Amino acid sequence: MAEPETTTDTIAAISTPSGRGGIGIVRLSGPDAASIAAQLVRLHQPLEHMRVRMADVLDAPHTGADADRIDEALVTFFAAPHSYTAEDLVEIAAHGSPVVLELLLNRALSLGARLAEPGEFTKRAFLAGRLDLTQAEAVRDLIDAQTLTQARLAASQMGGALSRRVGPVKQALVELIALLEAGIDFAEDDVEVTPQAEIARRITELTPPLTALEASFARGRIVHDGLTLAIVGRPNAGKSSLFNCLAEHDRAIVTATPGTTRDTVTERISLDGIPLELVDTAGLREAGEEVEQLGIARSREALADAALVVLVLDATEPLNDEERRLLAAVQGRPAVVAVNKSDLIEASRPLPDYADMLGAPSSPRSVRKGLESIPALATSALTGEGIPALRERILALATGGASAEPGMLTNLRQQQAIAAALTALNKAAQANAASIPHEMILLDLYQALWALDSLTGQTTPDDILNLIFSTFCIGK
Ligand code: GDP
Repeated sequence: MAEPETTTDTIAAISTPSGRGGIGIVRLSGPDAASIAAQLVRLHQPLEHMRVRMADVLDAPHTGADADRIDEALVTFFAAPHSYTAEDLVEIAAHGSPVVLELLLNRALSLGARLAEPGEFTKRAFLAGRLDLTQAEAVRDLIDAQTLTQARLAASQMGGALSRRVGPVKQALVELIALLEAGIDFAEDDVEVTPQAEIARRITELTPPLTALEASFARGRIVHDGLTLAIVGRPNAGKSSLFNCLAEHDRAIVTATPGTTRDTVTERISLDGIPLELVDTAGLREAGEEVEQLGIARSREALADAALVVLVLDATEPLNDEERRLLAAVQGRPAVVAVNKSDLIEASRPLPDYADMLGAPSSPRSVRKGLESIPALATSALTGEGIPALRERILALATGGASAEPGMLTNLRQQQAIAAALTALNKAAQANAASIPHEMILLDLYQALWALDSLTGQTTPDDILNLIFSTFCIGK
């Protein structure tokens, strides 16, 4: 845990989103939080820990009986250390009028509070040791969550799921370090030198849980960040229709601003809790012969940007050159070929072999073999046939088969910490195998410990901490 830091100033911020709302909250934290709050509003009763108090927000900055009341507020006081920040903390819940909230905030500032930096309340909680860094990051992730799955993941990390996974590894590492240190410090006092095999065994035991943790990033990252899925294909193949099929069924809880981006329509959907940004390249519907060219250009752009691709072909039409090019372009990438308008062809007709259709019969077998790996699915945006299978295929591509588990790594910072720990342990194992002196092995072990500590923020340099907390919103 980071060294508790004593803060001398009191910070204030509007903690609710900007704009109008039923309720708006001004938050104060620091040694003067209670005294500033008492001057800020006219309390009906003195503040008491964890008690809600009625108060009047007055028009003029004095508490005289004759002052006009412009709002009524509920004031809750949390006495240090039993608050979110572990400092004295006051929350003033007024009506959510920006005017009233600004008035309260400005008055708090004139009474000696300082405007809080983004994430500063959570940073104080972290510095006081109330939260570790993974938990603080989870607070931000919870606020930013766009799907319930993301919120659940953040909540479990906030509850310490990730820290709990790392805890036992760290404990075992510390024990190993202590063992080697003792061997060095007390070598003359007959403390037995730990045998090489014992050191090797202990290092080996540390690795699997960290490797598993590192692997969890595959799923954690996509739940956290989401993915972009481009729907490409020639005009009229049914891209927009498939887009709508997916979007209607799986619309995310929070829909991103619908609209056009670079001539494309995007929509955020949630597929089994994974946020997917669908990009339909048929955003514009110009008339004339430019359509084809524009469509092609947009398809290529979307293809380049997206993590996943659905290539839509028209089952009633033979492949054209552009489609051959698109098929070749999705080679080796996470892609699904949807052979759409399946309702217009006989159900029994098998899907064509794109490997054969793509390459000339004379193309080398290696090329054709690769082509066979593009999975094709019959779909009908009209009847819904094949849509559940399409959804499943997309999900499998998105997750790479990795399943959800508690305490997943969710950001690059965490992944790098675990990777650094693994690298250092690997070096220690090699040094041990090469009978290198324990002093040198210890350097690697300390490096691994430092990396694990940086995950939870125990050894994270200040500038990195500042960077992390600056990604929070104000008032949190
Ligand atoms: P896009 O240009 O690729 O986006 O194609 P659209 O989604 O706009 O579809 C072009 C035309 O094909 C429209 O008239 C759709 O109603 C029709 N269409 C799309 N999907 C299907 C399908 O699965 N079956 C049938 N019968 N018609 C479809």
